[in-house]
Amino acid sequence: MGPYENAWQGALARIAHAAQAVGRSPGDVSLLAVSKTFPAAAVRAVYAMGQQEFGENYVQDAAQKRAELGDLPGLSFVLIGPLQSNKTKLAAETFDRVESVDRLKIAERLSAARPADRPPLELLVQVNISGEVTKSGVRPDAAVSLAEEVARLPRTVLRGFMGIAEPTEDVALQRSQFARLRHCLEDARAAGLAVDMVSMGMSDDLEAAIAEGATEVRIGSAIFGPRHREKGLAQ
Ligand SMILES: *Cc1c(COP(=O)(O)O)cnc(C)c1O
Repeated sequence: MGPYENAWQGALARIAHAAQAVGRSPGDVSLLAVSKTFPAAAVRAVYAMGQQEFGENYVQDAAQKRAELGDLPGLSFVLIGPLQSNKTKLAAETFDRVESVDRLKIAERLSAARPADRPPLELLVQVNISGEVTKSGVRPDAAVSLAEEVARLPRTVLRGFMGIAEPTEDVALQRSQFARLRHCLEDARAAGLAVDMVSMGMSDDLEAAIAEGATEVRIGSAIFGPRHREKGLAQ
């Protein structure tokens, strides 16, 4: 058994359990394995168990890893960290989905830079559901109008919304913040957008997120262990 197998199986079991507890089907919640700061060899080991989607925060680091993993069919890299406009070209070449779109200009640049021989880049609009000033994302009341503009771009496909709840052990507070993201999806659908993804919930709060309708949870430390080398990594 590889080093991550127990932890990866454990994450899948937690997702299934949380889904069943609220009458949802485990298959309706996908797992994004957050491999940021871990080397390509760690991605390879978890991929070997059947995991195909990996979340990364640092564009340059992810591009290097992806180059080392070019032999893995179906491998999918997802950007969940903040994106600066000078990194949009490399991001459009490296990722299959970008979940941290918080302004139109970034989405426009990603669309313009998406290579013609790749399928359209999937996008999520990141929403600041905690209201903390330090957190990225658009305000919930601006999410649908940004989504409508992003949905018109030619080389990208809008899939839905991503959010991060504030770190707290208060489950009611977690749930009220996650509910804001579900409302974004409902409002976007009411406005006629064909969106289907709500990415929310991490190692410490995935149960609350699944109870509020997450279709994807992003799990890092519960699979790969604690992160050590985040400092000093270029965005
Ligand atoms: C790092 C990160 C995660 C994973 O967090 P863990 O607590 O390690 O599960 C999820 N989402 C985002 C946006 C992250 O930056």
